[in-house]
Amino acid sequence: MSAPFQPASIYANHADPSVRVMIAPTKYIQGPGVLNSVGSLVQQLGFRKAGLLASRRGHTAEAATAKAAIEAAGVAAAPTVFGGESSLPEIEARVADLREQQVDVLLAIGGGKPVDAGKCIAERLGVPVIIVPTLASNDAPCSALSVIYTEDGVMAGAEFFPTNPIAVIVDTEVIARAPERYLVAGIGDAMATYYEAKVCAKNADARNVLGTRPTLTATMIGQLCADTLYEHGEAACASVRDGKVSEALEHIVEANTLLSGIGFESGGLAGAHGYAQGYTVLPEVEENYLHGEMVGMGVLAQLMMEGNPDEARRAGEFFARVGLPIHLGQMGLSASQTEKIDAVVQGAMSFTPFSNLPFEVDADKVKQGMLSASEMGEAITAEQGEEAFLRIR
Ligand SMILES: [Zn+2]
Repeated sequence: MSAPFQPASIYANHADPSVRVMIAPTKYIQGPGVLNSVGSLVQQLGFRKAGLLASRRGHTAEAATAKAAIEAAGVAAAPTVFGGESSLPEIEARVADLREQQVDVLLAIGGGKPVDAGKCIAERLGVPVIIVPTLASNDAPCSALSVIYTEDGVMAGAEFFPTNPIAVIVDTEVIARAPERYLVAGIGDAMATYYEAKVCAKNADARNVLGTRPTLTATMIGQLCADTLYEHGEAACASVRDGKVSEALEHIVEANTLLSGIGFESGGLAGAHGYAQGYTVLPEVEENYLHGEMVGMGVLAQLMMEGNPDEARRAGEFFARVGLPIHLGQMGLSASQTEKIDAVVQGAMSFTPFSNLPFEVDADKVKQGMLSASEMGEAITAEQGEEAFLRIR
């Protein structure tokens, strides 16, 4: 394989740090039943044989719908079964399978892991990728990067790609049928978009994921994302409980998938995703909590570290209403577990975008942010209860 793609080596002009870059998927298609139109899309884009990456379960559900639609449009389909982990051995196995079948486009269908793996597989095959998320739980579908894990599921790094997916197709009927906890996790992940992009916009030394300054557009996408979540989040959760698509659900799916995806990549990351990475070093957290739940905890801690307790409280009260964890106890941890807390702090500080914060970050500040956010979360739980948190688990 050639040298890994490094976006900063192309986009960032280090002699002139004012360069600003924004990237995005070519097409974003969202609505009830849109999966049925994937056949005409693939056919009109001129593809002849589409690889279909999905889990064994996926091949009996959404991937089966996609396969029928593709074949009805006169395009051949080549299914391959995803083993469950976005790891290098799994990626190589699927590449070998699909290379033999000579596909000219790949559809990655499923949750965060097949989406991440699908981008890597398409890159190695030299074909474009179409992402079909079946959950609105994370910010992965729209970006030009993938997270790679070991075979045991520990985060091992990231790969960057020259292009974003050529299409992201989100069928909201599929999202409405998924468990509520996934949509809620996506809300936690998406909320970070605003607070992290805001830090990057204000700090002239901060850089987005591409190694450049953010555009005004990407920063405003973060703002729109948070406004949408605060306004429609609870109603969207109610729709998923009823298994029904609604206008509120459409808005939240867009926030969780499109706004969150473009927003984190081109608007920039900061503390919230650093704390999330920190939590993944504890196996009991990594196994039992979703990315967006850890990011939500990180949002509160970042805001406390920034000295913005009023905004932290606003976010914390909203998180409690939708059922995100807001204190260490809800993550199965406690402030007295010094070794574990210190491990999270060290994991968080190893996250490069932490340095986008406009002040010197040291272990003490990171720990204080986390513990004071947790105390605030306990106070909110005492006032509001934890009905939503318990209901969706
Ligand atoms: Zn995220």
